[in-house]
Amino acid sequence: MSDIFWKQLREITGDGRCFRQEDMSRHTTFRVGGPAEYYACPGREQVTELISLCKSYQIPWMVIGNGSNLLVGDKGISGMVIELGKEASQIEVKGAEVRAQAGALLSVVARKAADAGLSGMEFASGIPGSVGGAIVMNAGAYGGEMRQVVEKATVLTAEGREKELSREELCFGYRHSCIPEHHMVVLDTVLALERGDLPSIDEEMARLRRLRSEKQPLEYPSAGSTFKRPQGYFAGKLIQDAGLRGYRVGEAQVSEKHCGFVINRGGATAAQVRQLIRDVQDKVEEQFGVRMETEVRFVGEF
Ligand SMILES: Cc1cc2nc3c(=O)[nH]c(=O)nc-3n(C[C@H](O)[C@H](O)[C@H](O)COP(=O)(O)OP(=O)(O)OC[C@H]3O[C@@H](n4cnc5c(N)ncnc54)[C@H](O)[C@@H]3O)c2cc1C
Repeated sequence: MSDIFWKQLREITGDGRCFRQEDMSRHTTFRVGGPAEYYACPGREQVTELISLCKSYQIPWMVIGNGSNLLVGDKGISGMVIELGKEASQIEVKGAEVRAQAGALLSVVARKAADAGLSGMEFASGIPGSVGGAIVMNAGAYGGEMRQVVEKATVLTAEGREKELSREELCFGYRHSCIPEHHMVVLDTVLALERGDLPSIDEEMARLRRLRSEKQPLEYPSAGSTFKRPQGYFAGKLIQDAGLRGYRVGEAQVSEKHCGFVINRGGATAAQVRQLIRDVQDKVEEQFGVRMETEVRFVGEF
């Protein structure tokens, strides 16, 4: 069966766009994770067919973007990982609207918008995610969030139909949208931006970039802020006050620069990262009675 499936998969995506036993540490910013049984990089137009192929062979599947919010287990992922990345990354600017496919990087969208004199994406220019991943997560920074700019998104429903969802129908909340709970896939989006002037947009993007590199341990692999902000607290401050700055499990470490980041010092395993995250959650809870939830998503087998 697997040979027939593999042949059909290659027919859909084309050679060079699908792989077996693909090392997920190459596709996550944490740089950890075992192999995906199958890994495919389809274009926007091939996603529906690819998912229906998986369904017909009862092969579990999941979609990723730039892998910047994922911790993949050391034993990898059984089934298919579908990357909506550079093969599905067209961007078109029309008036004050930007149409972007799910795989477009936020940094590239923000740059194109700025070059067209459009303001609104400055906040996202330093977030290393794709448009699809950012909609799923309602990614945000420095007072901006995806919900402020997304006018609508085209999704593939769990039944395999394309459907347009308005901003309200995407049910954005803090680092939340309703995409995962309905097993939908983001295919593309329309962002509604405002006219601005290029020098001020550029200046703001440069200011935010400076802030990031001053405050965040960008020199190490990570998945950004590991924990969601608990109501009434800041995760980084709780971790610091619990005496966990620099705390290590193997090569996984609470960043000394920003306690809200767990970093991979080089060669960390997913098991070490997960253990460290659990230790931090337990110690913070013991001391302050607050159970921090992870923003990072755990996938695969550990
Ligand atoms: C250095 C660094 C800094 C960061 N700073 C920020 C920040 O300031 N603010 C912030 O919010 N985040 C930040 N992040 C986290 C991360 O970049 C964001 O959450 C980003 O939106 C994730 O996008 P992605 O494409 O990498 O998604 P992935 O990590 O690939 O996936 C995230 C989730 O979305 C799902 N998904 C991805 N694409 C699709 C799709 N097309 N359809 C359906 N589901 C999909 C995946 O299954 C997964 O559940 C940072 C990360 C790093 C490494």
